[in-house]
Amino acid sequence: ATPTALMVGTGRSAKMGILIKNGEVLEAVNDVKTVIFDKTGTITVGKPEVTDIVGDEEKVLSFATALEQSSEHPLASAIVKNAESKNIVVPEVSQFKAIEGKGVEALVDGQKVFVGNDKLLSDVQIDNKLREQVITLQEEAKTVVFVGVNNEIIGLIAIQDTPKNTSKEAISDLKARGLKTIMLTGDNKRVADAIAAQVGIDSVIADVLPSDKADHVKALQQDGKVAFVGDGINDAPALTVADVGIAMGSGTDIAIESGGIVLVKNDLRDVDRALALSKKTFNRIK
Ligand code: ADP
Ligand code: MG
Repeated sequence: ATPTALMVGTGRSAKMGILIKNGEVLEAVNDVKTVIFDKTGTITVGKPEVTDIVGDEEKVLSFATALEQSSEHPLASAIVKNAESKNIVVPEVSQFKAIEGKGVEALVDGQKVFVGNDKLLSDVQIDNKLREQVITLQEEAKTVVFVGVNNEIIGLIAIQDTPKNTSKEAISDLKARGLKTIMLTGDNKRVADAIAAQVGIDSVIADVLPSDKADHVKALQQDGKVAFVGDGINDAPALTVADVGIAMGSGTDIAIESGGIVLVKNDLRDVDRALALSKKTFNRIK
């Protein structure tokens, strides 16, 4: 390999906002068979907004916000922002606890309050009417957050994050190149399927705990080399394990450090451009 060709390739890509950290990445790109995507902040804009509240709105929002004020999750920010816009009065909490991939719990006035997904509902009854409301919202690509007090659900908050307007084109470019596309997300399967359908992703692995993302990537490597595209703290191990880790420039520092390629412009179409460019450069130096 001639270092000059490598530098030309990476220098040109850098001008396009595609940072390629080293030559090893370029080599691996040639054999990539599958591109795996994180959902939130990678395929979607990553700025979720509250769209529906089921139950007594003021009560549901005040309990949920009391807890979510202490969380850094994007869903938490959406809830807090919505409560602020409605000037909801928020009670104090104690013994706040975040539960990875599930939600948050705390005490409010001596009552145990929880906010999160159905993995938090093991001791909680959910009646058929509510279950149907949940399914309808999820099929509309909305993430449903349950709000409960003392083992009873008091309401739901539906939160929507929309695909970036370039995501669909980005996926179709990769598929035209003969690559398989997969979404890997901690969100609910129904919501993930709805988003995948909107952008044309081939298949979906949902309900994945952050600590399991890297293992799923390893399993997918059985079928050939994989690229993983992500932005979050919880994507860092997957970005490291993948043959080609591609981090969004808007991502967390640890994601950017873990990626071999960084997309400065946060445009998902740059995944295809990075692959094309790397191929060209690699063919030149062989
Ligand atoms: P992702 O970033 O792919 O959504 P996470 O592991 O961060 O994956 O979250 C998975 C799921 O856990 C969320 O979709 C949500 O249902 C639930 N969850 C996690 N944190 C919170 C929170 N602070 N409030 C409500 N739900 C949460
Ligand atoms: Mg993300």
